[in-house]
Amino acid sequence: MKKGFLIILALLSGCQATTPSSPTVPQAINTTYVARSHQPRINAIVIHYTVADEQRAITLLTGKQVSSHYLIAQYPKDHQTSPEIYQLVPEEQAAWHAGLSAWRGTYNLNKTSIGIELVNRGYSLPSGQHHGHCESYPPQQIAVLDKLVREIAERYKIEPANIIGHSDIAPLRKVDPGPCFPWQQLAQQGVGAWPDQKRVNKLLAGRAPDTPVDNALLLPLLKQYGYVFSAHATPQEQRQVIRAFQMHFQPENSSGQGDQLTLARLQALLLQYPWHH
Ligand SMILES: [Zn+2]
Repeated sequence: MKKGFLIILALLSGCQATTPSSPTVPQAINTTYVARSHQPRINAIVIHYTVADEQRAITLLTGKQVSSHYLIAQYPKDHQTSPEIYQLVPEEQAAWHAGLSAWRGTYNLNKTSIGIELVNRGYSLPSGQHHGHCESYPPQQIAVLDKLVREIAERYKIEPANIIGHSDIAPLRKVDPGPCFPWQQLAQQGVGAWPDQKRVNKLLAGRAPDTPVDNALLLPLLKQYGYVFSAHATPQEQRQVIRAFQMHFQPENSSGQGDQLTLARLQALLLQYPWHH
């Protein structure tokens, strides 16, 4: 009798050991030690314009090709006080907004950035020309964007220099959000980077701001600030990189021909927002 009882016990315990419940009860994880070298996966915010109107943009951005985390409408609807913000992709997921891209040593910014699209007709730059027409962004749309960017930047501790435009991370392919985008105004409100005027004047040291400067002087500094381009860039490509910088930091001259003001603003930015790499 006693032996039989033991066998039954053994069978029972054997049974318990193979119950399907064991894999679903995870081992307690020890979190005593926390590494010091780490960073959030998200470290940049990329601003875009849609070219398309709101409805068309929603269709495009929810289709199979491209997407963005947020889309901000251009104007409030009748019953609203501010333009709608749509969230199309959860922040934990990568949205397909950046494409082939690079900034400050990071490649493929889809993986590391939050993408925000603004409904705007965009910047038309007739081929072969250096000046085009852009549509200005309504103040209400910028106010909504300001709040959204501020909140995201705070959450992920995103550096001002990493709040950028599509044209900054893909200067040979993209011109959005274009020279009408109010980077200076946003920076004055505490969002993103902008060269300090006093510092710029000091760096200009009395030189005429519109005196042209050689690409050879600007390109190494653009690289230092975070723009990524080939060492074998053609003159046309060099012009596009310089134009990308100007559309962001010198919209009053986004011809792609650098001048003393381009140089001084770039130098000021390097002092204010150094990139440690
Ligand atoms: Zn874009």
